[in-house]
Amino acid sequence: MSNQCEEKVPGEGRWGFVHMHRCSNAAKAERDGKSYCNTHDPVRVKERREKKYQERQDNVNLVLARREQERQEFITRVIEMGQLEHDVQKTATRLVDEILSTGRSRARSPLW
Ligand SMILES: [Zn+2]
Repeated sequence: MSNQCEEKVPGEGRWGFVHMHRCSNAAKAERDGKSYCNTHDPVRVKERREKKYQERQDNVNLVLARREQERQEFITRVIEMGQLEHDVQKTATRLVDEILSTGRSRARSPLW
C-alpha cells in the first residue's frame, strides 16, 4: 500500500478541474490495489452516501407521518363537531375560518 492517497482531486477554484492532482492525504486503506485516504476510500464514500440517503428518507417519512396524523385528527374533530352541533353551516364556517387563519386544524398531538 502506498502511503499517500491515489485519488485524483481538482485544484482550487472554478477551473480546478483542469489541474487534477493527486490527493495529499495519508493513505488509510487499500481497495483493489489502490491506496485511499479516509475521505476517498470508496467503501467510506459509499457508506456516507447511503447514510445521507437514509437520513433524507427518514425526514420524508417523518413529515408524511405527521401529515397523516394531523389529517386523522382533523377528520376526528370534524366528526365530533358534526355530532355536537346540528347546525351544519355553522360548523362548516367555523372549521373553514380556523383552517384559513392557521393553515391547519387546531387539533394537536402533544408531540409537536
Ligand atoms: Zn484522498
